[in-house]
Amino acid sequence: MQQVRVKAAGADFELLEQPLPEPPPGSVRIKVQACGICHSDSFTKDGSYPGIVYPRAPGHEIAGVIDAVAGNCDPWKAGDRAGVGWYGGHCGRCASCRRGDFITCARLQVPGISYDGGYAQYVVVPAAALARIPAQLTAEEAAPIMCAGITTFNALRHSGAAPGDVVAVQGIGGLGHLGLQFARKFAFHTVAIGRGGDKRDLALKLGAHTYLDSAARDVARELHALGGARTILATAPDAKSIGTLVDGLSVDGRLVIVGASPDPFGVASIQLIGGRKSIMGWPSGTAADSEDALKFAAANAIRPMIELFPLERAAEGYNKMISGKVRFRSVLKIAD
Ligand SMILES: [Zn+2]
Ligand SMILES: [Zn+2]
Repeated sequence: MQQVRVKAAGADFELLEQPLPEPPPGSVRIKVQACGICHSDSFTKDGSYPGIVYPRAPGHEIAGVIDAVAGNCDPWKAGDRAGVGWYGGHCGRCASCRRGDFITCARLQVPGISYDGGYAQYVVVPAAALARIPAQLTAEEAAPIMCAGITTFNALRHSGAAPGDVVAVQGIGGLGHLGLQFARKFAFHTVAIGRGGDKRDLALKLGAHTYLDSAARDVARELHALGGARTILATAPDAKSIGTLVDGLSVDGRLVIVGASPDPFGVASIQLIGGRKSIMGWPSGTAADSEDALKFAAANAIRPMIELFPLERAAEGYNKMISGKVRFRSVLKIAD
């Protein structure tokens, strides 16, 4: 099979011919049809995630068809359409797993980090990591929902906001353009926050009731004019804007961060205490959560906006994502 991998931290992508991997008992082999390119693939490319063993093929937005099943993977069988996201298996023994909280597993397995991911014609994954893809979604539509989609869907549905509440989505990119669609279909009063005016029309088309240009307007003041945001979903890894976003929250409002960044940000305690505001992170979800996100997207006409690249042009798709030039998700189209 063909696989795109990174030989060592910081190395370029290389396309190689590899032997077809054999699944161990309890795992399946997936014929990959599409794999989204996520910003977190830079962890594998740059080596900025602890414990990666190289060489490693990145990719955790996998959509395809099960091609081989080993041992008891009931109810999964060859021919089933399946997706795999950031959650790629759990240990079953750590404190989180013992309480059934698999996404915070101390030894969480992530495709493309813990084992070879979806920049390839085939991947082998534990059956626990599989999410069923509804018939209404193509593989290239389903792939970005496996990370960008489920992360925003799950963060929003657990944020504490209720229908009618003001919910702002900061950043209109790979995560944000899906977050906006989910927020609108969750019946939130949906506010898009972007930098500059060029994404205004698109944000409104994706479901935003209001667009706020953070370069031209005082976002906190504008959110207050709407009653304050119950939730602000921060999707752009922009540490500098976090401090000002907090001031746009309502009483009991939450800033929910899903855009991963190593950069520290500054918030004064006084900004949080009076209004009982909080800041939290949200780590995607399990395979069952992914399946919920896929079903919700299929049933509510939510689709990612994608640009397709063949496997051999993975580096180009990756560079376009890193430079923020892709509208809005690079997806490797690997097979029909
Ligand atoms: Zn991701
Ligand atoms: Zn565990």
